[in-house]
Amino acid sequence: MTIIKNCLFEKILKRHKQLIGGVKDITTQKEMGVLGKIQTTALKLCLFTADFKCEHKDCDVKKDLTLHHLILRNTKEFMDFKRYLAARNYWNNQIILCRKHHCKIHRVPDNKLMLTIDKAKINAIKKEFKGGEK
Ligand SMILES: [Zn+2]
Ligand SMILES: [Zn+2]
Repeated sequence: MTIIKNCLFEKILKRHKQLIGGVKDITTQKEMGVLGKIQTTALKLCLFTADFKCEHKDCDVKKDLTLHHLILRNTKEFMDFKRYLAARNYWNNQIILCRKHHCKIHRVPDNKLMLTIDKAKINAIKKEFKGGEK
């Protein structure tokens, strides 16, 4: 991991933490919108930290990138739901993996069902960070 010196990163991190801090049970449309913002800010922070490539130590693939959550979905069954939402969606709970390595972690064959992050979205985020360089 590289040392992060990007003022945009700091700004997004601050916003992300504020949103996470205010997380509620997702029952209304408005709260769904907040969750969307949490996920968008997390994705930006994760992609930047990962240098827009797979974070597996033996890999630097830049295509077919996916987002893996370290706290798995089955945690929901025994956790307070708000706590679960906050923990699962916190940016440091997520890592960028290429599809091959993500499938490997979940012990499933490499397959196209594994949702990849939209290429145009990744490029837009990359561009956004370029503007934040100092
Ligand atoms: Zn996963
Ligand atoms: Zn990989």
